[in-house]
Amino acid sequence: MSIKENLEHIQERIAKAAAPWGRAKEDIHLLAVSKRQSIDSIQTALDCGHRQFAENKVQEATQHWAELKPRHPDLQLHLIGPLQTNKIKDALALFDVIHTVDREKLARKLGAALRAENRSIPCFIQVNIGKEDQKSGIAPNDLPAFLKFCQTECALNIQGLMCIPPADEPAALYFALLQKMAKAHGLSELSMGMSADFERAIPLGATYIRVGTGIFGQRES
Ligand SMILES: *Cc1c(COP(=O)(O)O)cnc(C)c1O
Repeated sequence: MSIKENLEHIQERIAKAAAPWGRAKEDIHLLAVSKRQSIDSIQTALDCGHRQFAENKVQEATQHWAELKPRHPDLQLHLIGPLQTNKIKDALALFDVIHTVDREKLARKLGAALRAENRSIPCFIQVNIGKEDQKSGIAPNDLPAFLKFCQTECALNIQGLMCIPPADEPAALYFALLQKMAKAHGLSELSMGMSADFERAIPLGATYIRVGTGIFGQRES
């Protein structure tokens, strides 16, 4: 299928997954994950009118978007991969939303950089929901203290939580857990669900789903 057909098909699947739960499809934002995709593919998605994109690396995102972004003032770019503190400035030049606030040092420096630019952008805290050694994110038990730190010490605009559930396990359990944590802290946004599992994330409250291969096909290696 073409990128245009994929985008339409996924929007239909979003609507279908949302309806039984009384959720409006407009409340579920489809982030097109354009990492390791060609500029041609990205341009095709833009030509289809899609305007919300996500990348996982600052440097690659700059290659993809430095020229394209200024041409599309209504474009929104989301960072969904780990952010090194020495890349904060580059990230803020490009991204509108950061989904991966995952440690104190980053929160502090991100807060300071935003203050210096007199800016505030929506941020998500990444939760290591499966407590996996190889994954980044705040341990679930540490979330209350970390959230408070981000809000009071760093003045970050924390809108919600983000997670990547363990592979090869039913994702719904982890989506439900993240939803419960967000509710407990009065956070309204949930960044969860990818190509393989976004339909399971929607009944559990996902407001941002991150879909790469389901839109663009296989990534370049
Ligand atoms: C690559 C990536 C995605 C998209 O994965 P697909 O399986 O291609 O949909 C979503 N979230 C994060 C954090 C990613 O790095």
